Amino acid sequence: MTQITSDPVFPEMDACRLCARSCGARRNAGHPGVCGMTAEIRAGRAALHMWEEPCISGREGSGAVFFTGCPLRCVFCQNRSIALGKEGVPVTVARLTEIFLELAAQGANNINLVTPTHYVPQIVEAVRMARAKGLSIPILYNTGSYETRETIRRLQGTVDIFLPDLKYKDPETAARYSRAPDYFAVATAAIEEMVTITGPPRFDDRGVLLRGTIVRHMVLPGHVREARKILEYLHETYGNDIYVSIMNQYTPMEGIGVHFPELGRRVTRREYDRVVEYALSIGIENAYIQEGPTAEESFIPSFRGEGVLKQEVET
Ligand code: SF4
Repeated sequence: MTQITSDPVFPEMDACRLCARSCGARRNAGHPGVCGMTAEIRAGRAALHMWEEPCISGREGSGAVFFTGCPLRCVFCQNRSIALGKEGVPVTVARLTEIFLELAAQGANNINLVTPTHYVPQIVEAVRMARAKGLSIPILYNTGSYETRETIRRLQGTVDIFLPDLKYKDPETAARYSRAPDYFAVATAAIEEMVTITGPPRFDDRGVLLRGTIVRHMVLPGHVREARKILEYLHETYGNDIYVSIMNQYTPMEGIGVHFPELGRRVTRREYDRVVEYALSIGIENAYIQEGPTAEESFIPSFRGEGVLKQEVET
């Protein structure tokens, strides 16, 4: 295991307002915010990931770095242990730089920053350092979208691809599942900034995405109408300037049905088909859909520091 040395101090974390929670936590003084994290970076896993959209994983995989903590903390989160800060290991900005370079050396098609919002200042610095050392693959920002416009604007020149969720349209749903009744207004403003930064999608000759924005919506059980409203909004606002990814992989986590009985089942084939049919009926062309059975819980990787801790080289 590697000794963690102190990082530069990022003044934004004296009273943090990086995400739309705007909780003002004194993270530099060791106080965690609503996201659960102090200024110390923690990550649970850094590895090639094959299960993103085909244009992101490609054949070689996406170099995913799963960060600990989350500003949104949805009740149904499938990465709940890491989102709640229960897993992951400390990592310096210098080590994060090395991780990016190691993933690129493994053949990753991109660096995929999973739930990165609360570490944006450190990530911007690590990407700058990695690029100075030759990192040339795209940087992808994979988020639940409870972002401020200011934080997204800081990513201009750092991030090439945005992969935001658009989870909810209705304030009641967003309040019930994420305690964020303003989610739709916040997330759509953030997505607007993202599309402004990336412009329309651009692919290489293998069909791997180099630049652009893909908006994900995971259909929730019993929420077909809300899914339709979200797709309608995205199509009317962006047309073919973005891709949408319509996901059917909702998996009820153990015990969810006690307080949220409506979430205690998977999305039915019929529900998912109705959403996809609607997308086609309104003219959405740039879309990814999921075929076949929904993902199993076994797809959820472990977050005990694989690829994050530096391997000691035996001499
Ligand atoms: S990133 Fe964390 S500490 Fe900062 S405003 Fe959001 S919840 Fe609060």
